[in-house]
Amino acid sequence: MANSRGLDFLFCHLCGTMLKVPSTKYAKCPLCETKRDINDIKGKEISYTISAEDIRKELGIIIMEEQKVQLSKVNKKCEKCGHGEANFYTRQMRSADEGQTTFYTCTRCGHQFQEN
Ligand SMILES: [Zn+2]
Ligand SMILES: [Zn+2]
Repeated sequence: MANSRGLDFLFCHLCGTMLKVPSTKYAKCPLCETKRDINDIKGKEISYTISAEDIRKELGIIIMEEQKVQLSKVNKKCEKCGHGEANFYTRQMRSADEGQTTFYTCTRCGHQFQEN
């Protein structure tokens, strides 16, 4: 895959397995269980000038980095902790019929959820 160039940091430096990202805090090698801080990956993302979209395609996750885009607060009940305020931003999906998706992040517990 042509996109994989420059994505070395997504792979375990010990065994070369693609890292999994079980939380927003760290990435973990599924084979040898080496952990890598997610900030390490996010920092690299900038220097490699690849988009969050590329990373998401690689990892199948939403990286919090995207919140740079149009972040504002709204009264929205967190589905996890019940807190009534969340940061949100909207994002046009690639395919037109998917429409616009709104992403929320709870300002108390950091839980992320989305709404079409
Ligand atoms: Zn490994
Ligand atoms: Zn919450």
